[in-house]
Amino acid sequence: MRSRLAIRMQVLSFAALAAAIPAVAQERAIEFPDVDGYGTFAVDLHTHSVFSDGVVWPIIRMQESERDGLALMAVTEHLEYQPWREDIPHPDRNRSYVVASEYAAEAESEVIVVNGAEITRSMPPGHVNAVFISDANALLVESSGADYMIRLRPSTPEEQAASEREARQAIEAANGQNAFVFWNHPNWPAQRPDGVAKLTDMHRELIADGLLHGIEVANGDFYSAESLQIALDNDLAILGVSDVHYLIDWDYTPHAGGHRTATLVFAEERTAESIKEALHANRTVAWFGNWLIGREDALMPLLEASLQLTKVERSAGDKLIDIRLSNMSDAAFDLRVTSGHRFNGPPSTMRVEPHSDLDLAISGETRTSFEMAFEVLNAITAPETHPTLRLAVEVPSQ
Ligand SMILES: [Zn+2]
Ligand SMILES: [Zn+2]
Repeated sequence: MRSRLAIRMQVLSFAALAAAIPAVAQERAIEFPDVDGYGTFAVDLHTHSVFSDGVVWPIIRMQESERDGLALMAVTEHLEYQPWREDIPHPDRNRSYVVASEYAAEAESEVIVVNGAEITRSMPPGHVNAVFISDANALLVESSGADYMIRLRPSTPEEQAASEREARQAIEAANGQNAFVFWNHPNWPAQRPDGVAKLTDMHRELIADGLLHGIEVANGDFYSAESLQIALDNDLAILGVSDVHYLIDWDYTPHAGGHRTATLVFAEERTAESIKEALHANRTVAWFGNWLIGREDALMPLLEASLQLTKVERSAGDKLIDIRLSNMSDAAFDLRVTSGHRFNGPPSTMRVEPHSDLDLAISGETRTSFEMAFEVLNAITAPETHPTLRLAVEVPSQ
């Protein structure tokens, strides 16, 4: 491998190498169409750097986000967990955000970076992210004599009670800064050995008091049906996040068609304020693997914008109706026809590849005005529930 790279370095000038980067960046950028009335923005609200337990400098996090075409990235270091603190002391919990935002200003980055923190506790409440905060240091609650491992793994009921009290204080402080606050990886096996997310009384109180606004339904390569149900039952925003610690390239192989787990937000403008408003209004869809996970009212406009009928005509010489389904998005749509239509072509299930067309010839349809219905198998509106996309078809007279 090393010798092959050396040869490539010889034949490629530095200018050619530099010029190659934007093309790669463009290819891997997350791309979904805008919906009626809103722009569609990809955001990642959960990232780590060396300032907590990540292994890269914050500038690399920003450059990955640029390549992924994110509109916004939150810097969310663990408040209470700093495994590299012997080597990288950082009493100032805002330092990581400052490094990332200085880079963003100097590089005139397209990515909006917002400050955040991961309040890191045993269950309950588990890990909780606060984003759009103004001062991470103000969320740090120092308990007398307790070191940070006690906060993570309390061993007595007293330590657990203290941890819950401090977590509540940190969450209240974040809300005092008008943060958007969400529950991280509620199904994490380290805290839920059966992998099933469950609400506790503490979570119910936080939700009832308006202090918890969202929940991770997808984190890295985890999806939780129970978290999705908790979001629907409690009016929480549905979120997908990378929670990246290493490199996006290694975890998600974007050069091979992969993408980081992220959230698509439907906002009026590409600004931090507008994206925050949309998060509080639950206008979100989690983008995880090839799945789009969201409430029906947020997901359907995205499906309608993504999958469009771009051709309808009676084919010459026979009585088939030729239609073209065009996919304007990064998702590969897996469809199942539920309107009873049949095709001279694929059977009842089919795939429309990303940014591609699928031509179908409908057989046995004599009407000139009708509706087609497709269950979208890679979209999820509730556990084990896939939405139906309806397309009105008008066949022009010849
Ligand atoms: Zn966590
Ligand atoms: Zn994390």
